[in-house]
Amino acid sequence: MAQDNSMLDGTIASVDAAVRSLGLEDDMREVLVEPWREIQVGLPVRMDDGNVRVFRGYRSQHNAARGPYKGGIRYHPNVDLSHTRALGMLMTWKTALADVPFGGAKGGVSVNPRELSMGELNRLTRRYTMSIHHVIGVNRDIPAPDLGTSAQTMAWIMDAYGSINGHTPGIVTGKPIELGGSLGRAEAPGRGAAMVACRAIVDSGSSPEQNTVAIQGFGAVGSSAARTMFDNGAKVIAVSDIDGAIINTSGLDIPALQRIVIEGGTVSDYTDADALNHEDLLSLDCDVLIPAAIEDVITAQNAAGVRSKFIVEAANRPVTSAADEILVDANRIVIPDILANAGGVVASYFEWAQNIQVFNWDLERVNRELDRKMNEAYDITKAKADRNDVSLREAAFDVAVSRVAEAIKLRGYVG
Ligand code: NAD
Repeated sequence: MAQDNSMLDGTIASVDAAVRSLGLEDDMREVLVEPWREIQVGLPVRMDDGNVRVFRGYRSQHNAARGPYKGGIRYHPNVDLSHTRALGMLMTWKTALADVPFGGAKGGVSVNPRELSMGELNRLTRRYTMSIHHVIGVNRDIPAPDLGTSAQTMAWIMDAYGSINGHTPGIVTGKPIELGGSLGRAEAPGRGAAMVACRAIVDSGSSPEQNTVAIQGFGAVGSSAARTMFDNGAKVIAVSDIDGAIINTSGLDIPALQRIVIEGGTVSDYTDADALNHEDLLSLDCDVLIPAAIEDVITAQNAAGVRSKFIVEAANRPVTSAADEILVDANRIVIPDILANAGGVVASYFEWAQNIQVFNWDLERVNRELDRKMNEAYDITKAKADRNDVSLREAAFDVAVSRVAEAIKLRGYVG
């Protein structure tokens, strides 16, 4: 099957811009963009009807100069090697910008998890874990949830890995609390995205209470971003999930919507709102647009129609490179994914540290430390953007790439 390399090309273009801006040498550039190890596996799984289906799984370990590989596992039909590589590379820059002691990786299986029963997902996840267990480890590579995977998926991975290596909660983050997961981890990427959005709003001379918000995706990241914006006084007027989109210009009751979704409903089950076209959510007349579902949703085709001043990349690469240029030229403030959704990996770092220390933090400590790390990442990015008169994305990549390049030099990888 032909691979779509646009996401990978866009990520490499951001690295190349940072390499030029930092004056790094060509051989360093090669070390920075090349993934260090990649694995592709066939995953035969007995389905509930007795037939066997063979799924394709991947793990791309991009760079570990600053610490063990770290990155989510995605279950989605579009997962392939190029896609996994691009997301793994993004993780390297994200962990560096957030200044947590990890490198970057990503994994996934090409599957629509909604078509599988819990038993089939359990067997698939165990098969995938057994196929990659020799390249992961507490000090080697630590997976986490991503699109289509959850705390339950992490519990199955921990159990399968533990059947070979003994009880090892630190092998994954984003686990259920009962198995060593951290309080606040599930909410952290959305909370962090909303936090940096509020910082950018205040820096532009406004306040969250004066801003309206639309959010694409109401899963782990989208729902907690919605909740944090709501708690900060912003008016969330539209949200969507894969089944539909809703709008109420007077504001949605986000806690009520969260209860509906936790009980197994969809956003369309919320009655005090009108239905909205999926595509129309992206061009709504609102101040803050938070794409929190999948990549490549704001493209050269629809970017000119985006009316929001702030675009917060809570998902990974929802804005293509071509769309990014259009938005920046139109004076929109795009908060890049490696900053906006870094809260997930920051809280994962806290979970990993708690597992290693066998000592649990309370929620107040997790959120306090998360807010501190997110504020530091925002401050260094904003200061660099202002100093160099560049976009937040360019500034964020400059900071991240320089940190990774420095670690590579200190380790002596480049002679
Ligand atoms: P999730 O599976 O919990 O939720 C995804 C949500 O998006 C669901 O509500 C789904 O219905 C919706 N969705 C999917 N396709 C859609 C479409 N075409 N239109 C509208 N809605 C759609 O996934 P998640 O963990 O919330 O991840 C979302 C994004 O955030 C992904 O890009 C992921 O890589 C990124 N991310 C996740 C984490 C994490 O820790 N979960 C951390 C950082 C970044």
